[in-house]
Amino acid sequence: MPYRAWFQCINPQCGATYSLNSIVYHCTQCHSLLEVQHDLEALSRRSAAAWMKRFEDRYKGNEWPYASGVWGKKEWILPQIDNANVVSLYEGGTNLFWAERFGKLIGLNDLWIKLCGNTHSGSFKDLGMTVLVSQVKQMISEGVPIKAVACASTGDTSAALATYCAAAGIQSVVLLPRGKISIAQLVQPIANGALVLYLDTDFDGCMKLVQEITKDPTLYLGNSMNSLRVEGQKTVGIEIVQQFDWEAPDVIIIPGGNLGNVSALGKGLLMLKDLGLIAKLPRIVVAQAERANPLYRSYQRNFEVFEPIQAQKTLASAIQIGNPVSFEKAVRTLKQFKGIVEQASEEELADAAAMGDRTGMFNCPHTGVALAVLLKLLKAGKIDKAERVVVISTAHGLKFVEMKVKYHQKELEFPCQYANQPIELPARLDAVKEALQTALQSRKDLL
Ligand SMILES: *Cc1c(COP(=O)(O)O)cnc(C)c1O
Ligand SMILES: [Zn+2]
Repeated sequence: MPYRAWFQCINPQCGATYSLNSIVYHCTQCHSLLEVQHDLEALSRRSAAAWMKRFEDRYKGNEWPYASGVWGKKEWILPQIDNANVVSLYEGGTNLFWAERFGKLIGLNDLWIKLCGNTHSGSFKDLGMTVLVSQVKQMISEGVPIKAVACASTGDTSAALATYCAAAGIQSVVLLPRGKISIAQLVQPIANGALVLYLDTDFDGCMKLVQEITKDPTLYLGNSMNSLRVEGQKTVGIEIVQQFDWEAPDVIIIPGGNLGNVSALGKGLLMLKDLGLIAKLPRIVVAQAERANPLYRSYQRNFEVFEPIQAQKTLASAIQIGNPVSFEKAVRTLKQFKGIVEQASEEELADAAAMGDRTGMFNCPHTGVALAVLLKLLKAGKIDKAERVVVISTAHGLKFVEMKVKYHQKELEFPCQYANQPIELPARLDAVKEALQTALQSRKDLL
């Protein structure tokens, strides 16, 4: 295999490199984050057209492991790993659909939703975890003494880590903030046999602790501070472009918490441009919940300052993060992609999610944040009606039913204008007929 990849310090003044099987999460010289670098020179010896053809040939086929949306791009992800060590659950290849009715309602004709939650563990975190757990399996096969993989999580990272580790026969350890994740998210790692540590703190508190315990090299760190995760997640941007027959959209909106995913999105798109598969880059918008908005605050001050905050409780629980680990990478991405950061209140995110559901979606609250931000930027004229816009939907709505139930029962702190309540009736034909008549009359318009 002529292709190579390694860890490299993101600080341009440093640029220290490390092999992918060394246990290192920060640069040992200057303490900056690391990223996986590829031998672009070697990759560019193959033409853009030849890469497109290879990726098309593999996409959603039956050849293991290349049918996976991630491993179909193996040469761009982890070229040196043995296929025997790949731990894949057929991740990626998720639906990108035209949101025709929602788009019409808001006056946007070319709106698309990338449904990253329609996957094995129900969120985009599968894209990164297949890569990280595969590399761990490779290291174990080379004799590196790793006993377990550990992560802190707002609920989706832990679900993905637990399921990929279970598939690989590797122990997982997950640190979760008590009462701040959904029941579905809590039961996922429990069912997959993870060691579940349920702690009286928030995500940022769990993150601090996991960094301490993974100083022991036999406990490998599974958070996105580990840039192997970013390598897998970067396929989301590549896949969107592929699904538009190798054309980049104008704008991509992505909800952000720890900010690994926006960095990953940018990394994949830049690789497409560097290797000549696309000519122009889209703009990237990061959508944050108003109650957990450290990036938004920094954006308002031109990224000149960054202050971690104490994130407040938000319905968008997977992005309730006050001290995002990948802040620097995200700022770099936003500067390269004419980035915008916008925020959404609890009411705005819940209404946008529900409005989307009324047009056939089934949104998680984080997707609600992204949709609410889209509405705001359209109104402000920062996104044009003629543009092709993609909203990245990060998780499956079924993971967040508690929030949806509260919304439709009007148990939240605002009116819940799209609430739809079941009508309780005796099981008699006359009662049913009467209910039908009144209800259908009062619901002439669909929203
Ligand atoms: C993890 C997660 C996010 C945020 O991704 P970051 O990389 O932490 O910015 C958004 N939505 C959902 C559903 C998630 O699980
Ligand atoms: Zn460095």
